[in-house]
Amino acid sequence: MADQSAPPVPSDHIMGVYSRTPLAFERGEGVRLYTTDGVAYLDCMAGIAVTALGHSHPKLIQAVKDQAEKLWHTSNIFTIPQQEKLATALTDATFADVVFFTNSGTEAIECAIKTARKYHWARGNPERIDIIGFDGSFHGRTLAAVNASGNASYLEGFGPPMPGFVHLPYGDHEALKAAIGPTTAAILIEPVQGEGGARALPNVCMRGLRQLCDQAGILLIYDEIQCGLGRTGKLFAYEWAEDAAPDIMAVAKALGGGFPVGACLATAKAAAGMTPGSHGSTYGGNPLAMAVGLASLEELVKPELLAHVREVAGYFNQQLTGLKDRFPDVVVDIRGKGLLIGIKLATPNREFMQHARDQHLLIAGGGDNCVRLLPPLTLTLEEAREAITSLERACEAAQAKVKAA
Ligand SMILES: *Cc1c(COP(=O)(O)O)cnc(C)c1O
Repeated sequence: MADQSAPPVPSDHIMGVYSRTPLAFERGEGVRLYTTDGVAYLDCMAGIAVTALGHSHPKLIQAVKDQAEKLWHTSNIFTIPQQEKLATALTDATFADVVFFTNSGTEAIECAIKTARKYHWARGNPERIDIIGFDGSFHGRTLAAVNASGNASYLEGFGPPMPGFVHLPYGDHEALKAAIGPTTAAILIEPVQGEGGARALPNVCMRGLRQLCDQAGILLIYDEIQCGLGRTGKLFAYEWAEDAAPDIMAVAKALGGGFPVGACLATAKAAAGMTPGSHGSTYGGNPLAMAVGLASLEELVKPELLAHVREVAGYFNQQLTGLKDRFPDVVVDIRGKGLLIGIKLATPNREFMQHARDQHLLIAGGGDNCVRLLPPLTLTLEEAREAITSLERACEAAQAKVKAA
C-alpha cells in the first residue's frame, strides 16, 4: 500500500534531472487521475502520449494479469510467440516487413540509426553514415538520439558532438537538397514534431522527402514515437500523405499504453544488414511486454477509434481557434495534428500549465513556448468540452497577469 500520509515532496535521492511538480497520483481511471489526497484531474497529457487508451483500461489490465501468471521473461535466444504475433500485427498494419522490439523510444531510434548505417555498409557503401535531422526535433536521450536531434541544451556537457549527424533548419527544402551527398545515410524526421512544439509536416513535404530519398538512394526514417498509433487520427501520421511511407520507423509510447514497449519497424530491404549478432536487447519484446502491446494495438487499430480521434480533434481545433481570437495577448497559434495539439503562447508556458492545473487540468509543455494537449484518444466530446472550459479559465488567468504587469 502507498503511504497515504506521505506528502508529495520531491525526494533528495532522485537524480535531479527533472524539475518536478509536487503533485503525486495514486490511481487513474480513463481520462482521470486522482492524487494521493483524492483530488481528481482531467488528464490531457496522458503521460506524454503514452496512456492513449486512458488509465486502467480493462483489456490492458487483463492482458497483464493473464501473462503475469504464466511467463514474464525468457530471452531473445528463444522464439517468443507473443512477439511473433505483435510483429505480424504491426507489419500487417504498416509498410514494414520486420520489427525489432525495444523498451523505450530512444532505443527504437538507436535501432533505426544502426539499421540505416548497416544497410549502406552491407551494400558496400560504408562511407554513408550521416543521419540528417532537423531543428526542433526530439528523438530521445541516449547519446546517439541527442546527437541526432542536435538540441544544444541536451548535448551540452556530454562530450564532443558525434560525427555522422547533420542538422538542418526545419522546412528549408533547398538546404536539405544541398546537404544530401555521398556520405548521407538517411533522413530522420518526426511527421509531427512533439517536444519541439507540435509542428506538423505538410503532406506535400512528406511526399517530397520520400522522392528525395529515392532519388539519392538514401533511407527515410520516421520517428512516430509520439505522433503514431492513432494520435493524429490515422494509425500512423505518414498515412496522411500518399506514397510517403518510410523505410524505417520508430514507435513506442502508446504501443504499451504505459508498459515500456518500443519497436523499430523496417522494410526487409532496409533491414538487410541486420544479421544475427548485429543488434540485441535483453528485455526487448519479452512475453509480458508483448502481451500488453498486443492488447493495446488491437484497440488502437480500430477504425471507430481513429474516426473518434478526428472528430474530437476537429472540435478542439474549432474551440481553440476561438480562444486564440478571444485572447490574442495569450494565445498566438494553434498547431499540430489530430490529438497532438500545440498551443503557442505569448505568456510563459510553464505559468500557463500551472493555470491549467489550478483548474485540475493536466497539459504538457513543449518547445517554442507551446503547451501541448495529448489526451487519451478515448477522450469524449463531453470531456473535451470540460477541457476547453478549463483552458478558457487558464487564458483568463494568464490575461489578468498580462493586464496587471
Ligand atoms: C518520447 C519520444 C522519444 C523518446 O522516447 P523514450 O521512450 O523517452 O526513450 C523519441 N522521439 C519522440 C518523437 C518522442 O516523443
